[in-house]
Amino acid sequence: MSHPPLIVAIDGPSGVGKSTAARRLAQRLSVPFLDTGAMYRAVGLKVLESGVDPLDREDVIAIASEADVRLGRREDGSFEVLLDGEPVEPRIRTPEVGEAASAIAAYPEVRQRMVLLQRDAAEHFGAVLEGRDIGTRVFPGTPYKFFLDARSDVRFKRRYEELTAAGRAVTFDEVVGEISRRDLRDSTRTDSPLTRDPSYTFIDSSDLTIDQVVEQMAEEIGRRG
Ligand code: C5P
Repeated sequence: MSHPPLIVAIDGPSGVGKSTAARRLAQRLSVPFLDTGAMYRAVGLKVLESGVDPLDREDVIAIASEADVRLGRREDGSFEVLLDGEPVEPRIRTPEVGEAASAIAAYPEVRQRMVLLQRDAAEHFGAVLEGRDIGTRVFPGTPYKFFLDARSDVRFKRRYEELTAAGRAVTFDEVVGEISRRDLRDSTRTDSPLTRDPSYTFIDSSDLTIDQVVEQMAEEIGRRG
């Protein structure tokens, strides 16, 4: 008898370390990793490059419906976001693209397309998906849902260190502003806001290492069989 694909949902606010934890957990479980935020960032990038204001709903929806967003596979098995046939990763990790992504992610028309792509990819191969609405909207039926959180001061510091280590010229205050604005928008929008319910396993990672977070998740998945 064949098993249904393993789907693990990891949701939580910005700067909490979801991507790193999800990538490692996926390797451990031998399923692909899917960073769904990178898909919204790809659309945000396209909008910015087209000279459109991310708050201009009609123009954004037009650009988003033309944008060719696809999921390829990297050598390590993880999903890679392609925009118009090109990997987007090197161009999407700026605060500007993050803010544009958060603005365009509030539009249901944009979300619908991304959700379909995410379901299609993960249903075929299984996946550890991380984002904001994976356990509430994309795969509400999976038994493996984690809500990863951390104190805001910890999240600001983690994101600041991540960006400066990557050579980005940002100030701490800019990072605080960007994360705070995104979190407010992401958790108060009407369509698929960031929220958790009792079906999630809650993990506060403020005082945990990435390895400890991954260990807790793997143990929980093992317990649930
Ligand atoms: O996870 P990341 O910070 O890269 O996501 C960028 C933005 O994309 C978020 O601030 C959020 O607005 C949006 N997003 C979303 N739903 C997801 C993943 C990301 O709305 N599943």
